[in-house]
Amino acid sequence: MSKELELASKYFPGGVNSPVRAFKSVGCEPPFIKSAYGSKVVDVNDIEYIDYVGTWGPAILGHAEESVIEAVRRAALDGLSFGAPTLAETELAQLICEAFPVIEKMRFVSSGTEATMSAIRLARGFTNRPYIIKCDGGYHGHGDSLLVSAGSGVATLGIPGCPGIPEGIASNTLVVPFNNLEAVKNVFETHKNKIAAMIVEPVCGNMGVVNPKDGYLQGLRKLCDENGSLLIFDEVMTGFRGCFGGVSKVVNVKPDLTTLGKVVGGGMPLAVYGGRADIMSMIAPDGPVYQAGTLSGNPIAVAAGIATLKKLKSDHTFYVKLFSNSEKIEKGLIAAAKEANIKITCNRYGAMMTLFFNEEQVTDYDTAKKSDTDKFARWFRGMLNQKIYLAPSQFEAMFISGAHTDLDIERTISAAKSVFETL
Ligand SMILES: *Cc1c(COP(=O)(O)O)cnc(C)c1O
Repeated sequence: MSKELELASKYFPGGVNSPVRAFKSVGCEPPFIKSAYGSKVVDVNDIEYIDYVGTWGPAILGHAEESVIEAVRRAALDGLSFGAPTLAETELAQLICEAFPVIEKMRFVSSGTEATMSAIRLARGFTNRPYIIKCDGGYHGHGDSLLVSAGSGVATLGIPGCPGIPEGIASNTLVVPFNNLEAVKNVFETHKNKIAAMIVEPVCGNMGVVNPKDGYLQGLRKLCDENGSLLIFDEVMTGFRGCFGGVSKVVNVKPDLTTLGKVVGGGMPLAVYGGRADIMSMIAPDGPVYQAGTLSGNPIAVAAGIATLKKLKSDHTFYVKLFSNSEKIEKGLIAAAKEANIKITCNRYGAMMTLFFNEEQVTDYDTAKKSDTDKFARWFRGMLNQKIYLAPSQFEAMFISGAHTDLDIERTISAAKSVFETL
């Protein structure tokens, strides 16, 4: 064990502060990172990697982007936290409303977990119903109600259920396979007038990237409407990844509530839940559903969010280049795998994608699980050796940023070629 990991393990379970960082499922040790810039992360031994984790999504502009760092620096000089309203919060809210017309009113929180947890509470408070529906392998943070049949690290570590969540809470969460409208319909029929909301990643990212089938999201909208339930799009990962906005904009389906995180805070702890004004007016102090936070709307995080969204909005070629680079990587990896006779399936939404070591199409968690995770682990270690830093799990996405250069892409594809040869 590296001396860094050994020391950290004295203080933290697994030596880390979030499980997947420990690299348990890929059979190697995580490098300790000391800095990051542009498309690179640098470890404590001065080894520089081309980074496709992007701090698990937020770093869409690349690391330490100049305008973001400058905004954070300026904000910090004025004080780190006030616990009082600021003008900057309103400015960020206006940018978010532009990007997400479905968000009329919102509340800022500090993590995606907090956003989805609060959205669920609100949906239950608004409808006065107990049940929620989620998808098998969908991840919405680690709140008790949502950690049932979850994706992300829960999938990576193969944890079936989570001890510590009372049956009384878990049993209020109904689980359906993604991309299957019939299953949703059946659950609505067996729990008539009892379902507060369905929460869904409109493009899954936490079982690896899985796109919705044509008509799936429209079908969910219809079923929720017919049953008086709310539709919640968890766009914590997909927000700003496929356009300046969300999947709701791309497919033109209007959720009642939306959750955001990751990109929206530009690398600082900031997340959002929001949606229809009549529903959001149930939140305290306008209404009786309580939710609060000492550091909510933190001025440094808000400054990073504003700078990030401004850049995304004002640079008209940003997304064009981002998607063309993402496509280049996708095509390059597919061609390299084919050449080496390795069976893969690549799923992509905008600037997030997953290479499944799987012959079949991946359309839900069951098909995702058919991937060869041993082969993935060997691929991951091979790429890490070539100084390409990927997410250490078959069930996560790789994130392309605006800072990835043509040279980065060339190096990535050539590394992939040589690693595929060894599998
Ligand atoms: C990352 C993620 C979350 C949880 O956000 P945290 O900030 O890690 O709490 C929730 N939902 C989705 C879709 C995510 O990708």
